[in-house]
Amino acid sequence: MKITGKTKIVGIFGYPIEHTFSPLMHNAAFSTLGLDYCYIPFEVRPKDLKSAVEGIRTLNIRGVNITVPHKEAVIKYLDELSEEAKLIGAVNTIENRDGKLIGHNTDGRGFIKSLWEDAKTKAKGKKVSILGAGGAGKGVAVSCALEGASEIIIANRTIMKAEELVRYLDRHFKKTQFSAIPLVKQQLSNVIAESDILINATSLGLKGKGMLPISYKELHKDLVVYDLIYNPLITPLLKIARRAGVKKVVNGIGMLIHQGAFAFEIWTEKKPPVDVMKKAIL
Ligand code: NAP
Repeated sequence: MKITGKTKIVGIFGYPIEHTFSPLMHNAAFSTLGLDYCYIPFEVRPKDLKSAVEGIRTLNIRGVNITVPHKEAVIKYLDELSEEAKLIGAVNTIENRDGKLIGHNTDGRGFIKSLWEDAKTKAKGKKVSILGAGGAGKGVAVSCALEGASEIIIANRTIMKAEELVRYLDRHFKKTQFSAIPLVKQQLSNVIAESDILINATSLGLKGKGMLPISYKELHKDLVVYDLIYNPLITPLLKIARRAGVKKVVNGIGMLIHQGAFAFEIWTEKKPPVDVMKKAIL
């Protein structure tokens, strides 16, 4: 990569940031398309977020991704939000449009795209069980509702958070039925038996975190099992899904790539080379 006076800068703000895969994915894509862009990780502490966002304008940075812990806090420093970012209440991509900072959320869209590409499944008309009511759970729930899911059940360890999310979703989506349950084996078992899609949006399954209270006996073969986690690639949930004979079993790599691909398109207005991005990450 040759950096010149004309090179456009994009990047990612997060804290910590050293584990991010995004520079690999985006720089490989820029290089393949011969675009004069460079993607840089920026370690931004929470107390410095405001000045870092001002820096996007003053340094004429084309745009940035926003990751943990800034996705919600960044909103107050932006000029405008996309409809999706407004609904999800979080921003993972900023676009600098001639000095105007626009917040987007491509996580949900990335999930929906991956659900189609990797499992040939649409959320429309489906009964979807989502485990987790954090940022990712909310993004996925909003996206499934936007897609026209018929029913969405949110299961969470802290039941009050699931109930709060359900109240929020109820206010915004009239055609989908929502309910909240605690993340416990018995209730999950009843709900999963009748679900079409099961999504893990908790941190359970990440290395060193605990296990979900689900065994292979609760899963049926026609379920689509989607784990947002991508490290490890074969998560404990995906292992038990395979043991149960589930045919459509997907990890979070596809979502990670497609959220990045949508951001790439926002910044460059070019069709992203998704295969190159995927190869760079894997
Ligand atoms: P978050 O906002 O911190 O939410 C974490 C969720 O996990 C909450 O629902 C939390 O429940 C639950 N949880 C954490 N520890 C738990 C435990 N010991 N027992 C039961 N539940 C527990 O995090 P997030 O941003 O939503 O991320 C959630 C997962 O999605 C992470 O694994 C992340 O890596 C993954 N993710 C993947 C992508 C992708 O592109 N593939 C994108 C975003 C996130 P409580 O509410 O009870 O605390």
